[in-house]
Parts: sequence; C-alpha cells; structure tokens
Amino acid sequence: MISIQRFTERLARLRTITAPGRGITRLAFTDEDWAGRAYMISLMREADLAVREDAFGNVIGRREGTRPDLTPVLCGSHGDSVPEGGNFDGICGTLAAIELAQSMQEDGWQNERPYEAVLFMCEESSRFGAATLGSRAMCGELSPRDLLTYHDKEGRALYDVLKRRGLDPDHIERAKYPVRPAAFFEMHIEQGRVLEHERKKAGVVTGIAAPTRLRFRIHGHPDHSGAAPMTLRHDGLAAAAELILAVERIARSHADPPVVGTASTLRLRPNAINVVPGEVTLGVDIRSISAEAKADTVRRVLDEAEAIGARRQVPFDVDWMSDERPVPIRRDVVDFLMDCCAAEGLPAMTLPSGAGHDAMHWAERCPTGMLFLPCRGGVSHNPDEYAEVEDIAGAARVLERAVRQALQADFHFREEGQQ
Ligand SMILES: [Zn+2]
Repeated sequence: MISIQRFTERLARLRTITAPGRGITRLAFTDEDWAGRAYMISLMREADLAVREDAFGNVIGRREGTRPDLTPVLCGSHGDSVPEGGNFDGICGTLAAIELAQSMQEDGWQNERPYEAVLFMCEESSRFGAATLGSRAMCGELSPRDLLTYHDKEGRALYDVLKRRGLDPDHIERAKYPVRPAAFFEMHIEQGRVLEHERKKAGVVTGIAAPTRLRFRIHGHPDHSGAAPMTLRHDGLAAAAELILAVERIARSHADPPVVGTASTLRLRPNAINVVPGEVTLGVDIRSISAEAKADTVRRVLDEAEAIGARRQVPFDVDWMSDERPVPIRRDVVDFLMDCCAAEGLPAMTLPSGAGHDAMHWAERCPTGMLFLPCRGGVSHNPDEYAEVEDIAGAARVLERAVRQALQADFHFREEGQQ
C-alpha cells in the first residue's frame, strides 16, 4: 500500500536539497540536482529496485517481473527545478513511481511485466535553454553534436557538463531505450487552475500542447505627436493593439478543441511620450493540443495582420520563431485512466496540458498516460507551489491501480486489443 507518511517525509527531505535562496533551486546537473538524484537512487534501492543509469544520467530502477521476456511498464518524472521553483513539480511523479515499487514489495504483489521507475534528467529548460532533454535522449533524439550546441549562462556546453559528471556524451545514442515499452505513465502537478476551479482531484491529460511562436515587426511611422494630424498617421502601436485583440478573439473562438493565444511581448521604438510609435515588435504565442485548430488560428491571425496592415498602411514582417507539433494522448489510455479514477472514487476530468512534459516524447512511441493533481491556485515554478498531501495520495493511488493493471501480461489497452 502507498504510504503517504513516507511520501511526506521524502518531500520534506527533498525540500532541503536546494541551492541557497528562496524556494527550490536544483538546476540540471548542478551539485544540488546531483544530490537530489543521489537521494532518489537511495530510495530506489530501498524499494529493492535494480538501479542503472544511462549515458545522459537518467536513472532507471527496475523491478523484475515473472515474465522478464515481456516489455516493461515505465513510470516516472523529473527531479530538476527552475530557479526558485517549488517542491512538487517533477518530484511528485518521481517519488510516486518509486513509491509504487515499494508498495508492490511490501504487499508481496508480483508483477508479470517488468516495472521501471524513471528519474529523468534535465526536464526544465532553465539551465540549457531546452526542455525534456533526458526523455529526448531516451527516445533517441539527441546527438553528441546537439550536446555541444546547448550552453548554460556561464558558457559551459552540456557535453562538457555530462563529461564532468562521468556520463557518456560521446555515446549518447546508447541512452536510447532499447524497446517500445508496454506503457508509460507520468503523474505531475497541474501547474494551472482548472482542477481547482472545477473542484476535481485528478485530471487525465488528453494531449500536450505545443507552441507556434510568431514575431511581428510592424513598421509604423514615428511622427510628432502634436504636429501629426490623426488622418495622416501610421501608428505602429495602434496597429499592434488591433492585432493583440484579434489574437485574443480568434483564440477564444476555438473552444473545442481549445486554443490559447497570447500576445506576450511588446517592444516600441522610439517609446517616447511625444512621438507616435513607429517600429513595434510584437511576440505572439499560440498553443493547442490540436494541430489543426492551432494551424487554423495561426492562419486567421496572419490574415488579420494582413488586413490591419493594409487598412492602416502599416507594413509588417513576420518571423516564425517556432512551430512545434502538439502531442495527442491516445483516447483508450485516457478512458483507462478515467476508469481508474472512478474506481478509486476520485472526482476527475479530462484536460489538455498547456505545458510540455517528459510524457510527450513517450506518447509518440508507446501507450502513454498522464495524470494531473491539483496545485493550490495553479501556482508553479514558484516557491509558493503547493499540493495537498491528500491530493498527492489520491493521484498516487490511481497511478498504482493503472500501473498494476498494465503490468499484467494479458492486459491490453482497448485499441491494441482490437488489433
Ligand atoms: Zn515538471
């Protein structure tokens, strides 16, 4: 059985493993992150897991099954944090994955498939400017060349940082997980307010959104704010204002599947109180779990920009800063996790994930389920991040139910069963 007391003690211990300052700071591969990792390894050993690490430093704790010939079920999350982050992001899911193994051990519950608890390294982009690198390594998406291109603020290449930790960046391909797992599960705090608002205790993720980021450079004409009559202006900021509202309106019009659109950055030149704004740079971030809904939104925003520019005679350019592909979660896995929530008596709902997670890399490779638990006020990446211990326990029980079923040799997700 899952021990919530043990879980609480471990959270308290991890709270002490941080760089000085507010909240939790365990940037990837720093001494603090490495100490947190060592602690997690000790917990895996305590749970009788056979621990190994891969070329990137990801830690995998294996509980052998009675059918070691079958592909394993994986469960895990990350251990690093953002600067001055909270004590729940990532580690709730990692501790849960380890707790599941300890619970199997203490219950004398025998798994047929092998079970592997995974601690992913470098999920946060805070240090090297790129996220979920541990999962990408395990999914065969990182080359030694990539490792040389990622640098931290001090100019250290990820490649060198891995070397200094005794890892093997030259053979990063060896980190690739050798088989298609039977399933992957990740439990994580929601990092948003939806569950709290809907008074639900668990959220089953239907897809992981990915951003398209556009930078508009709007070429207005800077004129004297007193001398230029209203009819003769080409106000870059007024044009941007129309576009900002258009982004909001167009994104709102996509309710199902939902799209979120944010005009999030703005730069003005000359930015003086007595000058009509000339050059304006506007950053727009558009996300959805539906590639079609996102593409439609982007197209309509671009059309609208075109129309505004023509009407106001303010030319503009667009740079595509990124255009990433959202990751859908299989419907049968979503239904399965919703059934597990119901069986545990936990009020649950489905929802998209606006943030990226390790799970998104696994979802492209194997049946993947992601379970959110509420966090107070939706606050995350912040020292005030907080989740109720009862909510962590509830989600962990759902996770345990799901994982134990998936560990049975004759278990199939619905779609696979039909094939
Ligand atoms: Zn996280």
